[in-house]
Amino acid sequence: MSKTKEERIKKLKKKHIWPSILGLILILFVFTIIMAVAVGMSAMDIVNRKLADSSRRSEKIAELFVDYSQETADKIAQTALSHVDVLDEIEAVAVYDAERKPVWSSNNTYPSLDDSIKMEFLTVTDAESVGVIIEKDEKQIFTIDDGMIVLAEDAFKHIFSSSVINETGAFANIKLWMVADAGDKEVMVLNNIPVYFQDFMMAGVCLALCGILIAIFVIYYLISIISMVSSMHKTNKVIYTDVLTGGDNWLSFIKKGTSLLNKSKRSGQKYAMLHLEMLKYRSFCTCFGVNKGQELIEKFYLALKNTVNRKEVMAHQENAAFGLLLEYTDTQQFEARIQYIQNVTSSVLPGMKVYFGVGVYLVQPGENDVEQLYNNAMIACEMSGEDTENKIAYFDVEMNNQKLWERRVEDDMERALINREFQVYLQPKISTTEEVLGGAEALVRWIHPTEGFIPPNRFIPIFEKNGFILKLDDYMLEEIARVQAGWLAEGRKLVPISVNVSRAHFTREDLAEHICAIVDKYQVPHDVIELELTESAFFDDKKVLLNTVQKLRKAGFQVSMDDFGAGYSSLNSLKELQIDVLKIDADFFRGADVEERGLLIVSEVIDLAKKLNMKIVAEGIESKEQVEFLTAQECDLIQGYFYAKPMPVTEFAQKYSV
Ligand code: C2E
Ligand code: CA
Ligand code: CA
Repeated sequence: MSKTKEERIKKLKKKHIWPSILGLILILFVFTIIMAVAVGMSAMDIVNRKLADSSRRSEKIAELFVDYSQETADKIAQTALSHVDVLDEIEAVAVYDAERKPVWSSNNTYPSLDDSIKMEFLTVTDAESVGVIIEKDEKQIFTIDDGMIVLAEDAFKHIFSSSVINETGAFANIKLWMVADAGDKEVMVLNNIPVYFQDFMMAGVCLALCGILIAIFVIYYLISIISMVSSMHKTNKVIYTDVLTGGDNWLSFIKKGTSLLNKSKRSGQKYAMLHLEMLKYRSFCTCFGVNKGQELIEKFYLALKNTVNRKEVMAHQENAAFGLLLEYTDTQQFEARIQYIQNVTSSVLPGMKVYFGVGVYLVQPGENDVEQLYNNAMIACEMSGEDTENKIAYFDVEMNNQKLWERRVEDDMERALINREFQVYLQPKISTTEEVLGGAEALVRWIHPTEGFIPPNRFIPIFEKNGFILKLDDYMLEEIARVQAGWLAEGRKLVPISVNVSRAHFTREDLAEHICAIVDKYQVPHDVIELELTESAFFDDKKVLLNTVQKLRKAGFQVSMDDFGAGYSSLNSLKELQIDVLKIDADFFRGADVEERGLLIVSEVIDLAKKLNMKIVAEGIESKEQVEFLTAQECDLIQGYFYAKPMPVTEFAQKYSV
């Protein structure tokens, strides 16, 4: 597949799904950050407020101990204890003197002042914390002795990660020792701060709102992603579905085939590429209609589908052709399988004989260009020629060379015509009675700038297939008209020169007028131009052929039937077609058993032609005996290597100056 085609298909399939996915990720990310910041800040604020309260409480307690002395000890202790008892949120108080020695404690515990880290209260008060213990259900879950901010964040984190929310009571307690100055003493107060669910109400609401917003966006994006994926799926289906069969189309065949062949590099599995085509499908459509033809292709597809396994691929290609990439182990087993496949497809039309052409290319290790491989299989089928029997043709290198040559010829032909690379050669026709020049045949030669001399059998069949023969024949006719006009002007005696008219011309109804127009450009008498046509033209449009021949003869041209006796000659054509010259094919004079039967037929044909008022030209005559025989049979002209091979016009003019 070409790169641009691949690009176009990719573009068709491409739905911009990534922006949606990225959008979704971005939104989730942004909302998570916003949520985390909002919730974090609100939680920090709550904790900070609670810590500020604790700090104030701690300072109040500390104030009690400003006047603490031996005498006031009992009284102050009493007051302090009553505070501790009354204030739920104070659990213990410990007092240290100026030398930092323990003085008094509400419960006989003295947390170490030395080990504690003095911290600055950023937002609370000037009270100082020496440690935090977070408890839940009497169980200590976390202790901390770091800065306030960290304290607030961590407290929050741990409260949430380890609490079961209970709407009525506190679900966690933050316990912290706070230090406050009391004159020359220091007082440590163990605060027990309950954390309630309600404290986080605002953060919760914020969280819920964010959650709802996120959910809306997520749902929106998910829906758009799902719809994109589904439309991508649908596009893929359209791109890879064959409208005629409803199965894989050719693009899909290439895609799947390439992937199978790539996998086979690892597994070592051998594959064969098959081109399977129903022969005479067009005739079927002409007889039964295009719809029936299309139904037939669908049936073939369904039948073929059942013959391939999961590691193989099959698809409709065009017309009634299918491509199959099949596994195989050995050729014998494989041929049996092809036979089976042919039988299965043939059985689609019970009671009717359908034939298939099968071209096979055995894929070589490492090859994965599906289109190229299929092309090889197709070439194999094409090159084996049309046949009525089911046939299996294997691709070989020679076929490829022939195909390459065809392409080369097609690439060069137009240029060659413009550059006059096609040259006219003339082969004389010698009269048997006087052994003088009685005519000539114009035969083309291609003098290629790089290939050199190319004989017509290497390009004429290609031109006949691609239609270029029409241009070439016109060119040859014009060249001959020009040559004859030149010779006429030089005062030479002219003999008829024949040009070959390919059967492809007989599709145009104005062929006779067309020929006249070319010749008349050079003011050449028509009777010095002979037109050689083959009997095979009869198999095309008989009406056009008969009409054209009639018109040409009326216009004064000589018309000859070329290659009589080669291929499917029939005397019947002689009955219908009124022509001037019969050219007996060289085949009559070749082969082992030619001697008697062949010569007998020749003499009878000559006799018959004479009775029908035709001139006889024998072609391909190489020996004296043949000449003598033909002379005896009163054959008019002889064309063959015995007298001369085809030669360039100038050489001919010199040799046969008359
Ligand atoms: P053709 O029209 O039957 O031409 C006669 C062929 O027999 C020529 O082959 C000629 O060289 C060859 N030939 C003549 N005498 C002998 C002989 O004694 N022995 C042998 N072995 N061969 C002999 P050539 O020139 O190679 O042409 C082959 C065919 O190519 C022609 O067969 C004709 O069908 C086609 N062709 C040649 N030039 C043209 C053209 O300008 N237009 C068309 N449409 N076909 C052409
Ligand atoms: Ca000829
Ligand atoms: Ca011939």
